[in-house]
Amino acid sequence: MERDIYDEDHEAFRDLVKSFVKKYVTNESIQRWDAEGEIDRATMKAAAESGLIGLSVPEEFGGAGMLQDYRFRTVVSEEVIAAGAGSLAGAFGIQDDLAVPYLVHMGTDEQKAKWLPKMATAEVIGALAMTEPGAGSDLRGISTTAKKVEGGYVVNGAKTFISSGKTADLVVTFVKTGEGNRPDAFSIVLIENGMEGFEHGKKLNKLGSHGHDTAELSFTDVFVPDENLLGGEEGRGFIQLMTNLPLERLSIGVAGASAAQAALGWTLEHTKAREAFGQRIIDFQNTRFKLADVAVTVDVMWAYIDRALLAYKEGKLTAEEAAKVKFWASEREWEVLDTCLQLHGGYGYMNEYPITRAFADARVHRIYGGTNEIMRDIVSRQLAGKR
Ligand SMILES: Cc1cc2nc3c(=O)[nH]c(=O)nc-3n(C[C@H](O)[C@H](O)[C@H](O)COP(=O)(O)OP(=O)(O)OC[C@H]3O[C@@H](n4cnc5c(N)ncnc54)[C@H](O)[C@@H]3O)c2cc1C
Repeated sequence: MERDIYDEDHEAFRDLVKSFVKKYVTNESIQRWDAEGEIDRATMKAAAESGLIGLSVPEEFGGAGMLQDYRFRTVVSEEVIAAGAGSLAGAFGIQDDLAVPYLVHMGTDEQKAKWLPKMATAEVIGALAMTEPGAGSDLRGISTTAKKVEGGYVVNGAKTFISSGKTADLVVTFVKTGEGNRPDAFSIVLIENGMEGFEHGKKLNKLGSHGHDTAELSFTDVFVPDENLLGGEEGRGFIQLMTNLPLERLSIGVAGASAAQAALGWTLEHTKAREAFGQRIIDFQNTRFKLADVAVTVDVMWAYIDRALLAYKEGKLTAEEAAKVKFWASEREWEVLDTCLQLHGGYGYMNEYPITRAFADARVHRIYGGTNEIMRDIVSRQLAGKR
């Protein structure tokens, strides 16, 4: 089904993204990122130069000023994922969808002026650190503390599973500044590379997304100056997190639809090229029926997500609506990728095939950004009239 949410600016931007992909996203670069466990900074900078990073940074700070129009980011996800580079799409997303928006929406003027221009050029890579070894879904259970001292805070604790955690220069970090677990007991501080006592731990060895670093972080008596308290106000951390979660969840839905669409393309190609029992794999009725199901699922995914993209643009995508998109799309993505992988036969189990890597990359979409169980909890609470 033809989609109608893009205008000529988005299509012109798509051409630009395609030329970036042609130049930088090769089999060789995908293999290198996977082997090194991270996207090299030169590629990130080239992406920024081409306008693929910094889309959410306001124009006055050197970006494209498109934070509220997620269609541009969607074009990036579609094209990069179609090229088999889910890890690269992930690294772009952490910068533009997770780190930058905190500064844009909640940073002080000084924080914006200091960090956003460098984030637009990828001179500074950002990360968002909420999860800890002892607390993921239940973020009020975190134990990283930021104790007030003269001129700033002293941070102690550890974070885990942090995307871009090894390569990040600036970590938007969720901490406890008060007692108990009331929402106002939490704040967000900006922790910089090089601050004494801040260590990036080892890169974690994951099921998928091999080319995008995920790391542990530790903080031992890290002095963070007052000017690095996000928004300059203590006790706002929980509200700040809630503000950005709809975008994070929408972005996972978009990645899911992009992967499902890409999987359909790869599978059509494979099943037309390969033969068994004297005919093409696509000539088996089973294959065609499965592909028909996949094609409809992809259409419906986009119909739903496109609606969410427009709602987000109008500032109307609620936490509950974003939670629905996230869990529903990541589950359809999983079904589609599993079906498409099966139609590749043994080749679907080989890491050199994009379907294989996309399948492994997809699994985390049901886990991060809030697990799908937590998403259902959010949606069902609203249905039950409980918040
Ligand atoms: C590759 C990767 C990248 C990540 N990137 C980041 C990042 O950049 N920044 C960051 O802060 N975090 C990141 N995370 C962490 C991620 O957000 C958490 O793993 C996730 O929120 C789940 O938390 P947990 O792992 O502690 O699981 P737990 O909270 O221990 O959950 C375990 C299981 O219990 C279920 N469960 C928990 N509570 C409930 C409940 N109330 N009702 C029903 N079921 C429940 C969960 O759904 C899950 O199935 C990343 C994780 C991965 C794997």
